[in-house]
Amino acid sequence: MDQKQLEQAVEKRRTFAIISHPDAGKTTITEQLLLFGGVVRSAGTVKAKKTGNFAKSDWMEIEKKRGISVTSSVMQFDYDDKRVVILDTPGHEDFSEDTYRTLMAVDSAVMVIDSAKGIEPQTKKLFQICKMRGIPIFTFINKLDRDGREPLDLTAELEEVLGIEAYAMNWPIGMGKGFKGIYDRFNNRIELYRSENEGESFLELDENGEIKGNHPLKQESIYRQVLEEIELVKGAGSEFDEEKIEKGELTPVFFGSALTNFGVKTFLDAYLQFAPAPAKHRTEEGNFVEPEDEEFSGFVFKIQANMNPNHRDRIAFVRICSGEFDRGMDVTLQRTGKKIRLSNSTQFMADSREVVETAVAGDIIGLYDTGNFQIGDTIYSGKKKVKFEKLPQFTPELFVHVRAKNVMKQKSFHKGIEQLVQEGAVQLYQSYSTGDYILGAVGQLQFEVFQFRMANEYNSEVVMEPMGKKIARWIAPEQLDEKMSSSRNLLVKDRQGNPLFLFENEFSERWFKDKYPDVELTSKL
Ligand code: GDP
Repeated sequence: MDQKQLEQAVEKRRTFAIISHPDAGKTTITEQLLLFGGVVRSAGTVKAKKTGNFAKSDWMEIEKKRGISVTSSVMQFDYDDKRVVILDTPGHEDFSEDTYRTLMAVDSAVMVIDSAKGIEPQTKKLFQICKMRGIPIFTFINKLDRDGREPLDLTAELEEVLGIEAYAMNWPIGMGKGFKGIYDRFNNRIELYRSENEGESFLELDENGEIKGNHPLKQESIYRQVLEEIELVKGAGSEFDEEKIEKGELTPVFFGSALTNFGVKTFLDAYLQFAPAPAKHRTEEGNFVEPEDEEFSGFVFKIQANMNPNHRDRIAFVRICSGEFDRGMDVTLQRTGKKIRLSNSTQFMADSREVVETAVAGDIIGLYDTGNFQIGDTIYSGKKKVKFEKLPQFTPELFVHVRAKNVMKQKSFHKGIEQLVQEGAVQLYQSYSTGDYILGAVGQLQFEVFQFRMANEYNSEVVMEPMGKKIARWIAPEQLDEKMSSSRNLLVKDRQGNPLFLFENEFSERWFKDKYPDVELTSKL
């Protein structure tokens, strides 16, 4: 590829994540998008139907349908001259760490909201990460085929609860049984609600924003009401402002019903028009790497082992930030300074994996890994060193002691732990005094999945003894005196050998600080 081809290729990429509280309709909308992309032929094929909350059993279910879960973590398709890449994010809060890292690899986000529920806790958390990154956020208010909250109320909530300006690109005409369609300000038309099998049907609007000619809808009171609401929104609402969208200060809002595939295409078309192409990426020194930069660079945001049970493989997911990837190229792994040849690579289509020969900024590639990569690693070609900024890290709050049930099976126990810890599934610590293994996590479900995967993938049954909540605080090794360890705290070391205390509670942390006023404790490394 010459420079111009590279620029054109980058310009086509739209890499994003869909964020939502569980059950808002993320899976359903993803399926519809894949249908438009021609990568699945019927809805309901991406993931097994879920019941209520994600639980361990869902993981097992996913496990059974491995082929599906693999491909659903990165989905890529071509649509309307664009290369669309969707990164899946687990909805359950116990896996938020995984989600946060994934959000570092996208250029924009789509926030799906259930019209009956409005903004829910997990939506808010994920939104804040996107906001912190300053990426554009588009909102899809879902389930209009059911009764939900008033649209004015929902858009006001976006502004009040999330602190982002909202610009309604369209507006629902009724809802639930009385759902007539959407008044599409942006395309100056009304899109009439229809059953799933019927084709699209539009009414044109005149220069006053009213239906051209005669139509029964004009006689309905809901139509008048919508015209009034639109006037209200025009008067009091935000102006459409592309610059603000780009900075994540204003979210374009779309209404629809993912289940009946209504309003999804309208959303996708507008989204692709305004969503950004791959952005420049920040390095640790605070410089930026431009996507059209000649040299290749990227970072590992996720590692997953055993995605394919037939080949016990391990894949490092790389977000390309600049240049062109060519299979077989040599890159430098920044952390070690070593050269690595990238010959075994894959890209993700919704229903298969394919060997990837070339890829550019915005693309996600999978590298079959034999243990070279860690989450957060930067790789680059050329002489100029690149190190992208750190991925967010979370301090675990829950801890368990862990050991192999069968003492004769230490080898598979260690192998499994090492793999799963490298994936970032859980954090590993070791007691200073006894050398015992301790796992840390943000949510309980992480332990359960760990236990399940150890048994299933590594044939290692583990025994876990809960230690409850702890406060983890690191201490500089030169300040450490092992006598500081007492019954109120546990001295452990992390995977890199850094010492930290696990305090019972705030009281014991304060007690420690009073006793050792010169010692500095930190909540993160
Ligand atoms: P996720 O947890 O966010 O991935 O949510 P799902 O896509 O699995 O949807 C959760 C539930 O809501 C499922 O039972 C869907 O069939 C249902 N659902 C999704 N979108 C709609 C919609 O537009 N209308 C209605 N009535 N139900 C929907």
